[in-house]
Amino acid sequence: MTSAERRASLDRPRQPRKSTIDGTRRSLPSPLPFAGLTDLAGPERRAQGDEPLTSRAVRPGSELERRRLNELFAALCAIVSPTGSERACMDRVIAELRGLGLEHEEDDAGPRAGAGAGNLLVRIPGRAARTVLLCAHVDTVPVEGGVVEPELADGGWHNARPAVLGADNKAAVAGLLALARRVAVEGSPVGLELLFTVAEETGLAGARALDRSWLRAEFGYVFDHATPIGEVIVAAPASYHLAADLFGRAAHAGIRPEDGRSAVLAAARAVAAMPLGRIDEQTTANVASIHGGGAGTNVVPERCRVVGETRSHDEARAEAAMTTLVDRLQDAANVPVCACDLDVTVQRVFAAYRHEDDAPALRAAEAALRACGHTPRRVASGGGSDANALVEAGLPVVNLANGTQGAHQPDERVSVAALEGMVDVTMALLEECAT
Ligand SMILES: [Zn+2]
Repeated sequence: MTSAERRASLDRPRQPRKSTIDGTRRSLPSPLPFAGLTDLAGPERRAQGDEPLTSRAVRPGSELERRRLNELFAALCAIVSPTGSERACMDRVIAELRGLGLEHEEDDAGPRAGAGAGNLLVRIPGRAARTVLLCAHVDTVPVEGGVVEPELADGGWHNARPAVLGADNKAAVAGLLALARRVAVEGSPVGLELLFTVAEETGLAGARALDRSWLRAEFGYVFDHATPIGEVIVAAPASYHLAADLFGRAAHAGIRPEDGRSAVLAAARAVAAMPLGRIDEQTTANVASIHGGGAGTNVVPERCRVVGETRSHDEARAEAAMTTLVDRLQDAANVPVCACDLDVTVQRVFAAYRHEDDAPALRAAEAALRACGHTPRRVASGGGSDANALVEAGLPVVNLANGTQGAHQPDERVSVAALEGMVDVTMALLEECAT
């Protein structure tokens, strides 16, 4: 029996090669109760104590504005836009912006990001010198059945079909367009860059492919966390993606099983030996799938692919956890009963970040939330968002929970109150950013 050839590379490509990780689908419960973030309550405690509460008046949306927002949200959801098929939805966004007399620019990131459109940027001048970025992604996870029928029930929107609604992230897309409509008429307290990204759901590929010099904002926000309004994401993990191909040898399973080398057996042994789930308070690991195998039960399976990921708020631990997964694959491929070849690709999908406690973007967000009657809560998320890519590019971007529920699930929904409430929060945010 020949010895197995094993190739493994733990590299850190700057550009996404193949994007199969989604930042939010594997979201972990927030807040993560780990010791490193025990000081998260600090600023909130200060706010409730010796620091005066902000109560900057923001006009709530009129009935007409709220109706338009809901109609636009439903219309955007009905334009199915899984990653790679963003064009029609982005064109609708462009039509809305044109209707408001707002100019837009679209970059050439589409082909590089595996997207059906480029990232879209709109600049709106403001009364204050500062410029802030507000960002939402127009792509969604794949829609089972390919149809979204937005339906209003029990005070919220859901898909009448058994599939995702796409509130992730069209609640934010609609909210930013509602905001644009308002500031186009009333003016903006602060300079605005509205960024509509593509291919977020496949490893933040759109945001990673955009040219940082395109953006002039001092800091910014995404609204991409399916938890109650008030949660402010102050930390998010690094993520590594694994794709491992195992190559054995096919043989008749009944006549010459001794001649076969089972790739499925090697994969099973490897996965069974892997530490998976929550590795420590900051680190997680997951095997998502084992694909492949033979055409029939009478064939020893020649090949299969194992796909997985690791995440950690500590970059080194995310990498170490991935190294362990690769080691287990090598061990299994190497045992004589398997003797498979192994081809491993590891990609660092996004970097971890943690905002400074007194970051201006955090303080403005908390003041805006309080002004709208919400209690800000600083949390660490296990999920990624465009904020990971933008922070890595050097732009401090805070992810704010937007009150959506069940992202990436067939029962995904968003209440009308949350949809409308986030526009008020965002308006208040502009006021706070102007100070
Ligand atoms: Zn999202």
